Amino acid sequence: MIEVNEAVKIIQNSVLNFPKTKVPLDQALGKVLRQPIIADADFPPFNRVMMDGIAIKSKDFEKGIKCFKIHGIQAAGSPQMNLAGHGYCLEVMTGAVAPSGTDMVIRYEDVKMDYKKQEATILINKIEHGKNIHPKGADKRKGDVLVKEGVLIGTPEIAVGASVGLSEIWVTKNPSVAIVSTGNELVDIGATPLPHQIRRSNVHSLAAEMQKMGIQANLFHLYDQKELLQKELKKILDSHDVIMLSGGVSKGKFDFVPKVLDVLGVEKLFHTIKQKPGKPFWFGRKEGRKVVFAFPGNPVSTFLCFHKYMIPWLNKCLGIQDASPLRAVLATDFSIKTDFTYFLQVEVKVDAYGRIVATPKIGRGSGDHANLLSSDAFLELPGGQGVFKKGEAFPLIPFRQI
Ligand code: AMP
Ligand code: MG
Repeated sequence: MIEVNEAVKIIQNSVLNFPKTKVPLDQALGKVLRQPIIADADFPPFNRVMMDGIAIKSKDFEKGIKCFKIHGIQAAGSPQMNLAGHGYCLEVMTGAVAPSGTDMVIRYEDVKMDYKKQEATILINKIEHGKNIHPKGADKRKGDVLVKEGVLIGTPEIAVGASVGLSEIWVTKNPSVAIVSTGNELVDIGATPLPHQIRRSNVHSLAAEMQKMGIQANLFHLYDQKELLQKELKKILDSHDVIMLSGGVSKGKFDFVPKVLDVLGVEKLFHTIKQKPGKPFWFGRKEGRKVVFAFPGNPVSTFLCFHKYMIPWLNKCLGIQDASPLRAVLATDFSIKTDFTYFLQVEVKVDAYGRIVATPKIGRGSGDHANLLSSDAFLELPGGQGVFKKGEAFPLIPFRQI
């Protein structure tokens, strides 16, 4: 049996290198960029009008001209026009190219327009050269690296990618993931359980979590029969990079998973952690190319192990930097007698000072997954301490957005 931190280390040292793949830009959100995004033109690519109004040559105003003759409209999306000469202006629209010969824009609010006479009179006394024109190349230059490889793609990266014409983009390829439930007592969602049966739920929560990360996992169910388990697991191992199992790793007479994985050549890296819930968690690797997370079947155990161990591992494989670890303070005293690390279910709130405050939501053990409905996270309490005081801070593993 190993400590929680050792288990974390072993798992984080078992990262797989996922290849890259090209995807349409609109499917790239949340994936890791595997190419730099480079400016294919200056940002902005031309002197861009920033306000609706009139464009003038500022020297004309400085020479005392207040009333300008309008000789046209420069609309956004139209080729650049030329200023006719001294004393002339052009109406200009936001997003248009600043007409050649002009060096500033005066917004409509500061101008009196007389369309009968085709004249615009400036109502302000002070003007500023360059005002309301966003100069070509002011933000970025053609050839600049706008986004470095390895960045997690958010909406600003999508916008910048679109600006430089990347309709497709290289990102880290998702692994193929299998989620396997085991147990003779488990039936499908659609079935009506007999008195000795329950519907399986773990695989569905894990599959939903995978979906959040844009991964479509394949779901399987296997019965507690050694030969069958071996035959089916072999096929699953052959066709997936990441295998998550739930159930069959404890000390029961029908818990065949560790033995079968051993026979199938999956190297055990650990089995059992000094933690509650989730002690029987089994983790292994096959030929450095595949990993197996075999979680204990109790729904809260599966859920905890998945969030504590699997998500950070997957993020590391994908190249996603984990945000700095969260901590929360206890809202009330809490005590528990155990030498094991205890993952306490908590409801979290952010208080007026911006601190995350955790209120214990004690359920009826690792089988009580309905208790997760009123919780948001697990608070990681060290073994042996026994008494935990209100206001003490501990690591937090959230499973809902805080
Ligand atoms: P095991 O780890 O196989 O001994 O299972 C422990 C408990 O978790 C048993 O009560 C199982 O019925 C339950 N269990 C196992 N797998 C699932 C699942 N996929 N969904 C819901 N409960 C499960
Ligand atoms: Mg079982």
